[in-house]
Amino acid sequence: MEILYRSTRGNGETVTASQAILQGLSPDGGLFVPTQIPKFTKSLRELSQLSYQELAYQVMSSFLTDLTPEELKSCIQKAYDSKFDTPAIAPLTEKGGAHYLELFHGSTIAFKDMALSILPHLMTVSAKKNHEERKIVILTATSGDTGKAAMAGFADVPGTRIIVFYPKHGVSPIQEKQMVTQKGSNTHVVGITGNFDDAQTAVKKMFHDTELAAELSKAGYLFSSANSINIGRLVPQIVYYVYAYATLLREGKIQEGEKINVVVPTGNFGNILAAYYGKQMGLPLEKLICASNDNKVLYDFFTTGTYDKNRDFILTTSPSMDILISSNLERLIYKIAGDDPEKCRGFMEALTAKGTYTITPDMKEQLADFYGDFATEGETAQTIARLFRDTGYMIDPHTAVAATVYEKYKAKTGDDRTTVIASTASPYKFTRSVLCALDQKYDSMTDFGLVDALNGLTGVAVPKAIEEIRTAPTLHDRVVDAVDMPKAVKDILGIA
Ligand SMILES: *Cc1c(COP(=O)(O)O)cnc(C)c1O
Repeated sequence: MEILYRSTRGNGETVTASQAILQGLSPDGGLFVPTQIPKFTKSLRELSQLSYQELAYQVMSSFLTDLTPEELKSCIQKAYDSKFDTPAIAPLTEKGGAHYLELFHGSTIAFKDMALSILPHLMTVSAKKNHEERKIVILTATSGDTGKAAMAGFADVPGTRIIVFYPKHGVSPIQEKQMVTQKGSNTHVVGITGNFDDAQTAVKKMFHDTELAAELSKAGYLFSSANSINIGRLVPQIVYYVYAYATLLREGKIQEGEKINVVVPTGNFGNILAAYYGKQMGLPLEKLICASNDNKVLYDFFTTGTYDKNRDFILTTSPSMDILISSNLERLIYKIAGDDPEKCRGFMEALTAKGTYTITPDMKEQLADFYGDFATEGETAQTIARLFRDTGYMIDPHTAVAATVYEKYKAKTGDDRTTVIASTASPYKFTRSVLCALDQKYDSMTDFGLVDALNGLTGVAVPKAIEEIRTAPTLHDRVVDAVDMPKAVKDILGIA
């Protein structure tokens, strides 16, 4: 069955999967959604016998139908290899009454690796398929994590260049070190003297600059984006929910067909949307529990039906969830609006104009799959400390937001069915926050002192991603003003 993609704000026109991956965002400003959700062609029992890579093929081939089996298999092989520090790729660990799905075993120890390891390969295959001869130039503004994960994915992938802009004084020392030591002759990192918003705004401007696009095209380059609205990032994320279910079944922890809950620490709504698509494919999921930090726009949305971004932006210890506009929610809005692009556009235009919109009671009724709650900073720290004290298992602050919300959910509903918590980052990425959750005395230590302290406390080996930046040489030292970003791009690409 062929799956096509259409825009959440379009006129019904469809594109193929490879075209959707290459374009990222639809020209009308909407997001690409599949015209239908494919069903599993194998039983859950059969799926439970497959390796991560085989399962990835089963899931992804049913969505990306214009890729040949050889093309897709080659992408999967290149992505899910020894870059991951375990052959399981996404192992499950049972602690404190829940199953933690560890999505941080890739090259930058955060869950974005799951999709960004394969996106570059999907893009180059898609370019070839559509006779796109130009080199793909990925432009990204980052507040710390996405830029590194994108560079690690694109490093040395033929036919691509990647340029990452980060606020010179707005990322953590470890994050900066991770970026400026990035290897790969096609990777470029530029610090800017402004903040993240300045970088983000300038990148968006470059994407819409037709003059710049023409200059680039003449030199053989095409801009593209690796951000989480690309369907090529969403589809690979469905895989690990199926894999989690398959693992529980294989290990005899559940019966075939038994429903489980998933809890997802949510920011841009990409990860949890992947679980929702998994459910529609036929995965027996009961509740999709959406966990927010103090930036609880989504909790408010699920409880009231009103999305309202007019509020203070709160900096938390789970920075990758500090988001007031959850871009991928648009795909859910489109669905519950009855696949109606006009209706969807109306809500999104209201969001841009007024910062808020309210869905109809009809639409709200269709949100029964979801349950939203949030965790405060204090609760998150307490959860880290309690789980470590009780089980010796250390989780990062994003995962701890999810674990906190899960405890609240159980207390409120009494539902104690088997539950998977998406564990989205290694605690080694947030050493200061996790150790200070145990004891404030750690706050006086240096960054690498904290790494060693965490290692001493948990006995968990220091991940390669951290170990290698201790001594790695700085390879990127370019710093520019935000206004000079287009000049930096041309300079890097050798365009006069
Ligand atoms: C990006 C990110 C999230 C949020 O995921 P979304 O798909 O944006 O909802 C959660 N935790 C970590 C560690 C992340 O990097």
